Amino acid sequence: MPVLLHIVDSCALMAGIVLLFGYVQRHMPSRLLRSIVSGILFGLGAMLSMNEPLVVVPGAIFDDRCLFIGFAGAFVGPSGAVAALAVGAATRLLIDTTPAAIIGVLSMAGAAAAGLIWSRWRVTNMKPWMCHLLLGSMISVPLLLIVFVPLPENESPSLTLVIASLTLNNVAGSLLLGGILTQERRRAKLERVSQKNAETDPLTGLLNRRTFETLFSVAEATPGPGTGLLLIDIDHFKAINDRHGHLVGDRALQAVASLMIKSVRGCDSVVRYGGEEFVIILPGVREEDVRSMADRLCASLRTLLEVGDRRLYITASVGGAHAEPGKTTLSELLQRADESLYSAKTSGRDRAVCLPRHCGGPSNLADHELDAART
Ligand code: GH3
Ligand code: MG
Ligand code: MG
Repeated sequence: MPVLLHIVDSCALMAGIVLLFGYVQRHMPSRLLRSIVSGILFGLGAMLSMNEPLVVVPGAIFDDRCLFIGFAGAFVGPSGAVAALAVGAATRLLIDTTPAAIIGVLSMAGAAAAGLIWSRWRVTNMKPWMCHLLLGSMISVPLLLIVFVPLPENESPSLTLVIASLTLNNVAGSLLLGGILTQERRRAKLERVSQKNAETDPLTGLLNRRTFETLFSVAEATPGPGTGLLLIDIDHFKAINDRHGHLVGDRALQAVASLMIKSVRGCDSVVRYGGEEFVIILPGVREEDVRSMADRLCASLRTLLEVGDRRLYITASVGGAHAEPGKTTLSELLQRADESLYSAKTSGRDRAVCLPRHCGGPSNLADHELDAART
């Protein structure tokens, strides 16, 4: 009965860790953070399992610590393995610091290393269940260190029984969970990739137009004097394509995108809005900040690009607009930035214009005139 209860307990713990692992893999964008948090999760699994060991017969104790730490090496990678080992080792050493504890920590380190080796070892044509059987066996090799645990003569358990029972535990756990963890990791990666593809422009790597409204509402919610919008359109870009070819044009767009990323603050969002048009959302700025940022951006885009053996002189026109919190809708702000851009284009290009609010000038233009200026 206690064995059955322990297995049910272990399964529940493992299922919980797998669920959390899947959540972390799906929702944490930073790879390093994802690895460390997943590693800590496996470390917590080891910690909880150490606190609930099962003594089958005197001297034969089941616990899943090496399984969890080995999984961190196998399914998370080096940083995850280190994080899991840190949690597992600290837990063991907090219980006591006897030589047996040191050997316990060493066997956990061995399990982490075995998991890492397994993950790097690509055996072709091996069925998944065989891979996981191999993982469980590799994680169990460091258990041989148990023979060095100094035990009193009269309490000496059968070491073969301890090692055999723990190995059985690791192999069964690995067969049960290995496949699920592999699938979870694969599915999470697919979701991350498709999410990224849905949000980014494949040519420049910038955020795409689909993200624009969300980014703007996030910027609007930022405390501060208001939100700025810059519309950027490269000057005479068609002529660049005509003269140097579409591929060179593409490379120029990539170079312009990275120039823009370098010119803005970390909190600003650069979006590829259309062909050679970009929008930058500036959260928490005043109207005069928008002007100075527009001028600075225009100056940094006035540049000589070297694309292969071609040298391209690039300039861009920038139209800016500013909205005080809650006073302007996105479409009104976009319309004003568009009018500013039109003004920059018609007054000679290679300049930044930020028309003040309620400006009567270009806003009186007919829609078709604005559209003509934007294409
Ligand atoms: P203006 O100064 O008035 O903006 O002139 P322009 O030539 O830049 O304006 P227009 O809108 O007529 O031309 C935009 C050009 O951008 C036309 C199109 O071929 C080019 N373009 C749009 N998307 C891409 C792209 O992804 N790659 C390349 N190479 N060119 C593109
Ligand atoms: Mg253009
Ligand atoms: Mg254009």
